[in-house]
Amino acid sequence: MISKPQHADVLVVGAGPAGISAAIAAATHGSKVLVLDDNATLGGQIWRKGIAGKAEPTKPHAQDTRQAILRAAFITSGAELLPGRRVVDAPRPGILRTIVDTPTGPMPESFAWDRLILATGARERFLPFPGWTLPGIVGAGGLQALVKGGYPVEGKRVVVAGTWPLLLAVAAHLQQCGARVVSIEEQAPLGQLVPFAAGLWSHPAKVRQGIRYRAALADVPYRIGWWPIAAEKNASEILVRLTDGKRIVTETCDLLACGFHLVPNTELAELLGCKISSDLVEVNDRQETSVAGIFCAGEPTGIAGLDAALVQGEIAGLAAAGQPQKLSALHKKRAKENGFGQRLNAAFRLRPEVRLLCAPDTIVCRCEDVTYTQLQGRASWTEAKLQTRCGMGPCQGRICGPAVQSLFGWRATSVRPPIFPVPISAFGNNDSDFLEEITTFQETE
Ligand SMILES: Cc1cc2nc3c(=O)[nH]c(=O)nc-3n(C[C@H](O)[C@H](O)[C@H](O)COP(=O)(O)OP(=O)(O)OC[C@H]3O[C@@H](n4cnc5c(N)ncnc54)[C@H](O)[C@@H]3O)c2cc1C
Repeated sequence: MISKPQHADVLVVGAGPAGISAAIAAATHGSKVLVLDDNATLGGQIWRKGIAGKAEPTKPHAQDTRQAILRAAFITSGAELLPGRRVVDAPRPGILRTIVDTPTGPMPESFAWDRLILATGARERFLPFPGWTLPGIVGAGGLQALVKGGYPVEGKRVVVAGTWPLLLAVAAHLQQCGARVVSIEEQAPLGQLVPFAAGLWSHPAKVRQGIRYRAALADVPYRIGWWPIAAEKNASEILVRLTDGKRIVTETCDLLACGFHLVPNTELAELLGCKISSDLVEVNDRQETSVAGIFCAGEPTGIAGLDAALVQGEIAGLAAAGQPQKLSALHKKRAKENGFGQRLNAAFRLRPEVRLLCAPDTIVCRCEDVTYTQLQGRASWTEAKLQTRCGMGPCQGRICGPAVQSLFGWRATSVRPPIFPVPISAFGNNDSDFLEEITTFQETE
């Protein structure tokens, strides 16, 4: 049976910068705060190796001052991290359901909340092109995460391609770990990037960070306005064909790290009934969503980087802890960071050509092996799912969903629990509660 729900005044989902900042703000003002994250440690995507929280208090991590300050503040705030817990369902108002790995297997758990803060971050966008599913072709952030987890890249030749400043961060990290970065290929045209760069004077820290990355990668070609059009694999190497629309070059590498911007993780917010506009969770001045008592911070409300995630998290935490008088001091900073995010998104927006890279036999849904041709002529995402099983594999459309949206303009019409796949063993021998809840939900759809 599912045990009695643990209760939090403020329950935070996501222990990245936004969630950490929210938890500190709420706990410091007297709320009992629990933080759920599917990773093993605090830190989210950017600090994936983790900044130690209550779950691992002996592991020091003081190289980065910012991380060290946040870690110390989190520990002293009294907020509690419950790692290794993936939120999969919201079965009743005020209750979230998680799956946690235990020595006896995955188990469901429940959490009751008075106020909820969603800080679920974002994931990479993949765009299909001929060869994109070959072994050795991985997401840019995905490769960085693998390397942070111990995957060896020493001596490996890597092409980093796609779009977004993340490409530079990934390339610098790979090089630092011994990889030979062959080239960085940014699809955004120079004409879009120059006005953005010129407007960075009010963000000196970001300029310094960019200069550090470029200095570390001084010997690596950074091609602006180039994108991959196809990849092939021979016995041991990947051949990547790249174009700027006029010329074509071929680079040889061992790994192609490829990501086309980020996609906000809005599924849980959608499941909870929060209003979504232009693929983002809509929030007000207090970071509160359209559902009273549910707040959202960080990437699900807009892709705007670390500083935006931190200030939005702080606002959400203070608002959830009932401290509205402290919010106005943070609004100027939030406006500045949100504005930066908007300019960043405009500068790195996808060019039309990268949405048109598929050949007829290019796989679009890699879980279910659905090709571009099989999807052509369908009227909607729902029809494509029903007729081809596109998006019905283990990733539940997280990878092919944004791709078909780019290719055909279709968007998922509903989110169903569980929002992540749940192993059948998590239901236990006599535990029918979870199945019943999910079945009930689906029958009422
Ligand atoms: C793959 C990737 C790599 C990145 N690498 C860098 C980098 O090297 N440098 C850089 O400056 N920026 C990087 N970024 C961008 C960076 O993540 C943002 O700028 C910012 O830090 C986001 O903070 P956040 O708290 O909103 O989200 P995140 O840091 O993404 O934190 C969200 C957390 O919520 C968890 N989560 C989501 N859904 C659930 C659920 N249902 N149940 C439980 N837990 C859940 C996630 O696992 C994650 O730990 C990266 C982004 C991505 C997607």
